Formats: sequence, structure tokens, C-alpha cells
Amino acid sequence: MTQSEPVKPGDDAPPGTPGTGENLCPRCGGSGRVEAKSCPDCNGTGKVVTGIGGG
Ligand SMILES: [Zn+2]
Repeated sequence: MTQSEPVKPGDDAPPGTPGTGENLCPRCGGSGRVEAKSCPDCNGTGKVVTGIGGG
């Protein structure tokens, strides 16, 4: 493998990292709110980041 991308251990996965991605929160549809409350899935950000392996 010849990758020149810097890797910072412990840091968040950078955009474009294989296996990870920022997606629209399916629970609130990206609004960040569910029933007038902050979405528990995305903490009100409206976006969720999926990682390798999942939870
Ligand atoms: Zn959400």
C-alpha cells in the first residue's frame, strides 16, 4: 500500500476515509430534531457518522 495521507491516531476519521462517512441522520431526516426535541441519534446535528464495523 502506498498511501501518503497523514494518519492521526485518536483523531476523528477524516472525510473520505474508506469505511466511514457522514450521513444524513435517518432518525430525524437531517433536521436534528425529533418531536421538538434534539435528536438522540445525532445530538441535534442532523448528521451521523458511520464507522467501520458499526455498533
Ligand atoms: Zn438525528
